[in-house]
Amino acid sequence: MSTPPTKEPLNTPSEDPLISPEEEELASAQRPVGPKRSSCLWIVLGAILLLLLCACLFTGLWLTGFRAPSPAVPPEIETPVPDGLSGRLTAEPTMPPTSPPPPATRLGGDLVVHFIDVGQGDATLLVGPDFAILVDAGRHDRDDVLPYLQSVGIDHLDLLVGTHPHADHIGQFPQVLGALTVDEVWLSGDEHTTLTYERALDAILASDAGYHEPRAGEVFTFGSMRVEVLHPDRLSGRLHDGSISLRIVYGEVAFVLTGDAETKAEEEMLARGHVLQAHVFQLGHHGSRTSNSAPFLRAISPEIAIYSAALGNSYGHPHDEVLQALEALGIPVYGTDQHGTILVITDGQQIALELDRGPEGRLQEQSRAVVTWIPHVQHVSGE
Ligand SMILES: [Zn+2]
Ligand SMILES: [Zn+2]
Repeated sequence: MSTPPTKEPLNTPSEDPLISPEEEELASAQRPVGPKRSSCLWIVLGAILLLLLCACLFTGLWLTGFRAPSPAVPPEIETPVPDGLSGRLTAEPTMPPTSPPPPATRLGGDLVVHFIDVGQGDATLLVGPDFAILVDAGRHDRDDVLPYLQSVGIDHLDLLVGTHPHADHIGQFPQVLGALTVDEVWLSGDEHTTLTYERALDAILASDAGYHEPRAGEVFTFGSMRVEVLHPDRLSGRLHDGSISLRIVYGEVAFVLTGDAETKAEEEMLARGHVLQAHVFQLGHHGSRTSNSAPFLRAISPEIAIYSAALGNSYGHPHDEVLQALEALGIPVYGTDQHGTILVITDGQQIALELDRGPEGRLQEQSRAVVTWIPHVQHVSGE
């Protein structure tokens, strides 16, 4: 317990009878009168006493907590705290780029994840300093994936994944496998009866790529990237519920991609006890209500959600229920229908987001604006 500070009298005359005369003498010493020996002594004594008094007063005031404003002390500078994305549900990409954060521990370079705008389909390119992976290759009735890959300098893929054999995911396998060298291809193992599927298989066979059907629990490393297979553990014949689902870890930042996996697959992933937490979640099935269940969203607990869909698509993707669930959880969402190709860039510690354009399909003056940096959040466990 401290007693309330009492304010020392600052300007009231001192009651010490010894002081006033000295002060008088000091004042009189300043008058232009002839020097006298005794008054000189008094002046010196007075000055010393005055200095002592001032020192005592100052110390007393300091100890009682009084802080006189001092022009010598600069005012505290408020350092702006970087905005988290949680406060940026309506982030405007036109805002000037924020300063990059202080350099973090580097992994030899950044991982750039390109959620490529391929209309109503999926194509996600992950490029790091020592790996390049493509998860899904767009629609069968478009020709936009290979030109995009080439535009960003990709001529080799360590891995090409077809999450499931639908035409909006493996549609451009032939173009990609025909033009690039690909080390390995993963498919779920579910078969389909379409020409698109047959053409994709033919392209894999005609290439030099290895082939694998990954299963839950497998873990791979591609350079400095770690790929954890979350799903499937077995096939049921339902193409969506057989979607290859991956948790991708780069440094301390994690991404979850689940293709078109639906609620049943999500329940299985939860039941198997996989670590699902991630900073970035690509919404299942283009943001459909058939996927993205609340327990699954909570388990992933992403900083941002991203979906790939065409503007005005006939499926109504992304569904309002999903967007509302994300809003309720405070998770901002970005879609290729609204923002064009979306880049998520990470050094393994922090995340930056770059959008082609703003909401409502409105083109922005600045074609690629860094919207925000997300300070590293310590909620992802590495294992
Ligand atoms: Zn599908
Ligand atoms: Zn799909």
